[in-house]
Amino acid sequence: MKREYLTLSVFILFIYTSCNPVTSRHMTKIKFYPNKVIAHRGAWKAQGLPENSLASLQHSISMHCAGSEFDVHLTKDDSLVINHDNAFHGLDIETNTYDSLKKYTLQNGESIPTLRDYLLKGMNNNGGTRLILEIKPSTINTERGIRVAEKVVEMVSAFKAGPWITYISFDLEILKTILALDKKADTQYLNGELSPGSLHALGIRGVDYNYMVFKNHPEWIREAKENKMILNVWTVNTKSDMDFFLKNEFDFITTNEPELLFEIMNTKK
Ligand code: MG
Repeated sequence: MKREYLTLSVFILFIYTSCNPVTSRHMTKIKFYPNKVIAHRGAWKAQGLPENSLASLQHSISMHCAGSEFDVHLTKDDSLVINHDNAFHGLDIETNTYDSLKKYTLQNGESIPTLRDYLLKGMNNNGGTRLILEIKPSTINTERGIRVAEKVVEMVSAFKAGPWITYISFDLEILKTILALDKKADTQYLNGELSPGSLHALGIRGVDYNYMVFKNHPEWIREAKENKMILNVWTVNTKSDMDFFLKNEFDFITTNEPELLFEIMNTKK
């Protein structure tokens, strides 16, 4: 009788974890590449690839970067697309449809990537590059930004991509929305005006600020470490700045020059 009960419990647990992407994501462990290099908008510059393209994501994975960053917007008709600026070929993304954006291409011939394309590419033949997903604040209103966050989390859950994702945003409400939906989500704040302690109190795991913020607030480096927070910094493109953040033992350095950062890290080994 006892054995039957145990078998039934295991079966129920199996069904629950299989059907619940939020639960199963935290049971999945990925071995990420053990370096500090995050390719900003993918690894594009040295290869002459377009920023935020599937090709730049693929190249960052081929380079074994610790992470590949990209920027997410929502079109007028609710498609999640990848682009840095609010406009694509002069068309404002938030007030135009996906089909109207699709009439144009990136310089390498790709259409504007969708988040779906990015998640599928990012989880396929990826030996350990994190997907650093930036949700851009809405230029229409805060509520729309919150809706974008909800849609992103919904898609990440549907694709069981959670274990690969670090969410970053300049908009605190977007990060709060993500954490309300998934309190274990890996989140880092970008805007640079809040102390690490105050972010930690909100459940945000990391501080990802412009490099000048850390140079002006060196005490925040210590404060983040005291709170066991992840330290990330953008956009660090020179050897002297890379040396500074390596010396200060940052967890990650976000750069347009991943080749240079790998070279410096390899010489320090
Ligand atoms: Mg970005």
